[in-house]
Amino acid sequence: MSTSGVDVDRAARLLLGGGVVAIPTETVYGLAATARDAIAVRRVYDLKGRPASHPLIVHFADADGAGEWAQHWSPETDALAQRFWPGPLTLIVERADFVPDFVTGGLSSVALRVPDHALTLQLLRVVGDGLAAPSANKFGLVSPTTAQHVRADLGNGVDYVLDGGPCRIGVESTIVDCTVDPPQILRPGAVTVEDIETVIRSVAASSGPSRAPGMLSSHYAPKCRLVLVESGARPTEPMSGSTRTLDARVNPSTFAREMYAELRRADDDGIDSLLIELPEPRGIGLAIRDRLSKAAAGR
Ligand code: AMP
Ligand code: MG
Repeated sequence: MSTSGVDVDRAARLLLGGGVVAIPTETVYGLAATARDAIAVRRVYDLKGRPASHPLIVHFADADGAGEWAQHWSPETDALAQRFWPGPLTLIVERADFVPDFVTGGLSSVALRVPDHALTLQLLRVVGDGLAAPSANKFGLVSPTTAQHVRADLGNGVDYVLDGGPCRIGVESTIVDCTVDPPQILRPGAVTVEDIETVIRSVAASSGPSRAPGMLSSHYAPKCRLVLVESGARPTEPMSGSTRTLDARVNPSTFAREMYAELRRADDDGIDSLLIELPEPRGIGLAIRDRLSKAAAGR
């Protein structure tokens, strides 16, 4: 694990020179480029194989930096930023005029976040501007939660991997759309509905087809077959081949942290079917269920 400012300085130099650098965050590893650099952002899309219409999250050192990219900063947006940043919460706001289309997929809104990871916050301060970063994996596959995962997925395609150790939370940020009233959760994460409602009067839960472009029903997928069962239930389909069972019910936060590494491990070990007992649909259990149902879709 990297601890020295030397690594941060190297990452900053590469980014400011138009490079693409994998960065640690508390959620998953990101694949970063400076958000105003069209060519560098294009490389991020190309490396991932991500469609250009899927917008990126732009990361900042603090709420003041993020606020500059917004057309309008409502009292509710501000309350959420003050309470949860740095942290696993992404806010969708109307974008400022200068914000480029190549970051937002042509939308009039932009996704902003201040991640809670010491090395990346240091990096963001040195860079002094927004870093656009999706998860540092190939499009549709399992998100990386260690520097080794990034190297395994993207190899030499990335200019540098800033190793900040394993991610503390392990699932992508909660996304809240602040352009609608009341604000709406577009993707569940470690900041829960209950957390959000301690700060703003109400928030709408995600429902029906997502309004967030790029949130496909199949995503985060391992090669093995995933079989998901409710607590205490039996699988409705017969299990075949080599099978492993995981229990997400006992400690959902610990499970979330290890989840993507477990999906990768099952593939590395040549497991045919992975049976997972689902957590209750509340708190971070909602994020686990969301990611696993997408990981299991279309297989
Ligand atoms: P990822 O970088 O893979 O964690 O995904 C970021 C996700 O944020 C995208 O797939 C979108 O679903 C969502 N997102 C980013 N920008 C916007 C936006 N302006 N409006 C709605 N959703 C957005
Ligand atoms: Mg992703």
